[in-house]
Amino acid sequence: MIDPFGRHISYLRVSVTDRCDFRCVYCMAEDMTFLPKAEVLSLEELERLCTAFVRRGVKKLRLTGGEPLVRKNVMSLFRGLGKHLDSGALEELTLTTNGSQLAKYAQELADIGVRRVNVSMDTLDPDKFRQLTRWGDLDQVMRGLDAAQRAGLAIKINAVALRGVNDGEFDEMIRWSHGRGMDLVLIEVMPMGEIGDATRLDQYLPLSLARTEIARHFTLTETDYRTGGPARYFRVEETGGRLGFITPLTHNFCESCNRVRLTCTGTLYMCLGQEDAADLRGPLRASESDEVLDRAITEAIARKPKGHDFIIDRRNSGPAVPRHMSVTGG
Ligand code: SAM
Ligand code: SF4
Repeated sequence: MIDPFGRHISYLRVSVTDRCDFRCVYCMAEDMTFLPKAEVLSLEELERLCTAFVRRGVKKLRLTGGEPLVRKNVMSLFRGLGKHLDSGALEELTLTTNGSQLAKYAQELADIGVRRVNVSMDTLDPDKFRQLTRWGDLDQVMRGLDAAQRAGLAIKINAVALRGVNDGEFDEMIRWSHGRGMDLVLIEVMPMGEIGDATRLDQYLPLSLARTEIARHFTLTETDYRTGGPARYFRVEETGGRLGFITPLTHNFCESCNRVRLTCTGTLYMCLGQEDAADLRGPLRASESDEVLDRAITEAIARKPKGHDFIIDRRNSGPAVPRHMSVTGG
């Protein structure tokens, strides 16, 4: 699949549920309304959709959410998709998780063929963690990390940089994650969805500032390491570990975008930061053969926009797109 700007689309991210066992303050409002279950695709339908994309040349699949591991029976979806790893059609099957259920599932994921997981953790302070996630238990996530490492999974820690919350902790997080052999990636907060009292301007910390601060204590050497995602990686000479920055706001990352995103209702978003979307649920259910679906996918890819229009400043502190990250999948 090649889009109008010549970009090869080889990466599909799938939000398998919009539900979550946490309520991170930058991601969700406390009283989130979730989709009625009737609107959500079954796991069998999700598998059929993903398979259609794999047939069309998707090489990397990431399951995300919401929290993918809280969806009932989600392991059956992983198992189904794992077959494409065995056949060689798919190169990588992976997930982004908050880690709360990893202790339970890490070994099974590894057995299916998952090699890497992204675990989101914004602070190492249990009290702060509870506040940020509104009720998450850091210890439980730590047990999940232990289990994942025991199962041989490579781990990347994702941390959203939040002004006045975790900006004093980056040095410690670098030492901790690299000490355990895990990559660390810092992410700029993106203006997606209403989140209650907090405004984005309060939370927003440009990573250019974070990097300058980190560079006072560590030597950062630019690398050309890539994971297929938008992060730019540096080697931290003092730890030997990798530190990535995802900077959608201060540094546009769209030119090399190779991905599209599917929601759990079968809506395909061709860009994280734009409203245009294609319904694939209708075509999926229209017939047992995949012909109609294939046509809908082709039409959608032909509409992939050049890039996002995210901006956060004093005049623009509301959401740039009304949907939450948990809908489209981070
Ligand atoms: N629940 C899983 C987790 O937290 O890893 C997967 C879904 S979550 C929406 C995926 C990623 O998006 C997480 O790393 C989270 O920190 C990030 N995220 C959520 N809302 C965001 C926002 N407004 N700006 C930037 N990143 C955000
Ligand atoms: Fe849940 Fe992930 Fe959003 Fe946090 S960032 S509320 S864990 S979906």
